[in-house]
Amino acid sequence: RGQTRVLRLQGSALTGTRATCSAGSLRGARVLVTGASTGIGEQLAYCYARLGAQVVITARRENVLQQVARRCAQLGAQKALYVTGDMATTSDPSRVVKFAVDELGGLDYLVLNHIGRYSFSPWSGDVHHVRGLMEVNFLSYVQLASAALPSLEKSKGSIVVVSSLLGEFPTPFTAPYTATKFAVNGFFCTLQHELAMRSSDVSLTISILGLVDTESAMEKVRVVPYPAGEAALHVVRAGSLRQKESFYPWYTHLVCLGPGGAGERPLGGVRELRELWEL
Ligand code: NDP
Repeated sequence: RGQTRVLRLQGSALTGTRATCSAGSLRGARVLVTGASTGIGEQLAYCYARLGAQVVITARRENVLQQVARRCAQLGAQKALYVTGDMATTSDPSRVVKFAVDELGGLDYLVLNHIGRYSFSPWSGDVHHVRGLMEVNFLSYVQLASAALPSLEKSKGSIVVVSSLLGEFPTPFTAPYTATKFAVNGFFCTLQHELAMRSSDVSLTISILGLVDTESAMEKVRVVPYPAGEAALHVVRAGSLRQKESFYPWYTHLVCLGPGGAGERPLGGVRELRELWEL
């Protein structure tokens, strides 16, 4: 108790790197994780819980959130609370932040992770779906950040945005999702500049993830994924180290750099991509 625990996150076998992360700073940290009923969000909640944080989790399904919160308490969370909220509405993002701030007496980490459902298929022309997904995957992130910023300024806290390689590198069959992730990356990269320009003490981490073995991702593609628990640990670590960007697994960084550094993005042939995704 009270000791600084050191987490070791095994780096890629290919790069041979080994990163360390001091977890002491997360003991007692007041954390709000969105989309925490399943997948990476659930794993994020467990990571913060193991590190002794005070966690508020949110998503729509109360029965699932209840179980995740119970598990967080068993794993060592100082507090483990849940609040249901639908990020497709304009009222719930602010309400969820208010709940967390009131219950925890402030906020140190806002972890933006939730996404709405989408299919892996050519765009059908459904504008309504794009608009709805934009609301859940992007606009609610903006609203959550806006509602949390005053508390984060007070605590010198952090925003951690879970994003995707597809928000950097467009591929076929994911147009609505890709559009929302481009919006997320564009908005929060710009906000990073503005926070720095006004010497804000709030850090903003954007974690770019490749394919991770969550149930919802595995429904769509059949390639070998990376484990969600390790992805979550990577995101927690990047946020606690106040990194501007982080990449998991390692190859996502190379893909974002592209063949000519920041130059043109490579455009894979559709046949090649279909083979890759076994469509
Ligand atoms: P999941 O589909 O497993 O989880 C999505 C979460 O969002 C659930 O907790 C769901 O809970 C919640 N959610 C869905 N709709 C709403 C809504 N309207 N309001 C509030 N909460 C909602 O996603 P992943 O774990 O796979 O992905 C998590 C993050 O990681 C996302 O930002 C994704 O873009 C990113 N990522 C994932 C990759 C992967 O391969 N898995 C790859 C790259 C990035 P509920 O249904 O109870 O509301």
